[in-house]
Amino acid sequence: MAQMRIVKGVPVAPGLALGPVHVVHTTPHVVPTWSVSEEDVPREIARLREAVHLAAEDLRRRERVVADEIGERDAAIFSLHRTILQDPATHKDVESMIREQRINAESAVQTLIERFKSLSVKGGDTRGYAADFSDPWRVVLDALMRHEREVMEQTDEQVVIAAAELTPQVVTFLQRERVLAVVAETGGRFSHGAVLARSFGFPCVVGLPNLLSRLEQGMRISVDGDAGTVQLRPDQQDIDRFLARLERRKARLSKLGLHAGLPPETVDGHRLSLMVNIESIRDLDTFDPAHTDGVGLLRTEFLYMERTQFPSEEEQYRLYRRVIERMGGRTVTLRTLDIGNDKQLSYFKTPKENNPALGWRGLRISLEWQDLLRVQLRAALRASAHGPMRILLPMVTSIEEVREVHRVFDGVRRQLADQGFEIPVDVPVGIMVEVPSAVLVLHHIIGEVDFVSVGTNDLVQYLLATDRDNPWVSRLYDVHHPAVLIALDQVARASRAAGKPCSVCGEMAGDYATALMLLGMGFDAVSVVPSLLSEVKFAVRESTFVEAQEIARNALAESTSEGVRRVLIGARDRLHMRQLEARGDSELTLGADTNGDSKKRESN
Ligand code: PEP
Ligand code: MG
Repeated sequence: MAQMRIVKGVPVAPGLALGPVHVVHTTPHVVPTWSVSEEDVPREIARLREAVHLAAEDLRRRERVVADEIGERDAAIFSLHRTILQDPATHKDVESMIREQRINAESAVQTLIERFKSLSVKGGDTRGYAADFSDPWRVVLDALMRHEREVMEQTDEQVVIAAAELTPQVVTFLQRERVLAVVAETGGRFSHGAVLARSFGFPCVVGLPNLLSRLEQGMRISVDGDAGTVQLRPDQQDIDRFLARLERRKARLSKLGLHAGLPPETVDGHRLSLMVNIESIRDLDTFDPAHTDGVGLLRTEFLYMERTQFPSEEEQYRLYRRVIERMGGRTVTLRTLDIGNDKQLSYFKTPKENNPALGWRGLRISLEWQDLLRVQLRAALRASAHGPMRILLPMVTSIEEVREVHRVFDGVRRQLADQGFEIPVDVPVGIMVEVPSAVLVLHHIIGEVDFVSVGTNDLVQYLLATDRDNPWVSRLYDVHHPAVLIALDQVARASRAAGKPCSVCGEMAGDYATALMLLGMGFDAVSVVPSLLSEVKFAVRESTFVEAQEIARNALAESTSEGVRRVLIGARDRLHMRQLEARGDSELTLGADTNGDSKKRESN
């Protein structure tokens, strides 16, 4: 059998794709530099201006495509890039480089890009603001060097786009219908590029160090956006397997769709509430609210991230109200702002931190900048007059934080009442359990909150001391570690003992065998991305509660991740779901390599 070349990265957008790769050199490896004679300087400057003009046109084209296909808000990044291109000080800078150093326009633009990069490194920009400034100038460089797009425009072949960094320019490099998938060596899960890739429906994987050095233009690769893997040079056998999986995936999705409208109840009548995680207003169009029990996690930070300044109370109120109205009487769980770490606002600079995941983020910021919290709570409470809503607090570590929020919450409520707003009496306030300390003291905290939701994405990283976004340690980010299961069990027990609802909204709940295990542990709800709703629902409807309890008991008895995975795989077998899907498909949504076969991650 041919050697497998599967590289494990970070999944950004789901789906499978197979095709020839096109490496987009948004940062050309070699930018030619030559000396320019004094009399040629004006010609060089004219070339530069023409390239800036062409780049602005190109950005306008991309802006139109994104505005038409996704929406004005996503297109705004390109208009920002055009504004950056117009900055007279930068123009003066590049032109004086050409004039004084007597170098060609390409070289001067490249120097400018390098400068942006080094400024951002010195300034501690690990979040990619540099890309926003240098990206439009890379388009200028492209316009000067031209050949890449011209070559691509001569064919209409569909390709997998590969690049060093996942940026909006990379995602929109070609017309949408020509892109099969996007892969990049680096790029945040929540970057503008990632948001665009998801919105365009391109399978997308990042966190693939040194990928480009292993690719050649036109080389065939397959991309698994569910598992976050890329296979290089699949042989005929791999391709046949891949195409068969693709077919099964399609068949499975259409078959699962038949169950979508039925209640998520086990054969013996036990209900697991099934809710959705949403990140933006756009997500509301990707599922039917009637097929859900509500929104289990509205990540409000994305409403803030898509803007150039803090949204006003009125703006927030309108957005939250839209979500509530769209859900037609089903509960919306609104999480207060969870910025910091990998989610940054361009207009709210947080300090440079050596360990941002352990730093100033989530509730910590809301409690220090209480005006932010007050505005958000005012907007949320006003919106709650239009339908059921719960407030969820991120990154809670202690009971004192909960008490502090209650103080602010009561103040806001009184103020709104004084101003004549009619606010429902009962707006439940709950906490995310995503920090180990919250697990350990939950029996104290639980009496002061109305519900809990476990954020396993963070809980796993904090329990295992493994950065969730660092591809170098992704092997260690293991959602099946027995410690994770023990923590989950502890949360379910503490919540049950207090009679409070508890759910899991981390990504791991989207795996249907895991969802059954959580049901068996005593969780009464899971919240998953909309695309996994029908899969989880189908599994719940195929099982009994007794089976779910057995899965939980057996998984908790295991002392290794491997053992836990065996239990979950066994659960799938028993459900006879293997007829519906490719072996491995159902494992794709899990954070770690679920079959435990480390050889599969071979990367040479
Ligand atoms: C989590 O941590 O599991 C979670 C749902 O929150 P986020 O992914 O937004 O940090
Ligand atoms: Mg979290």
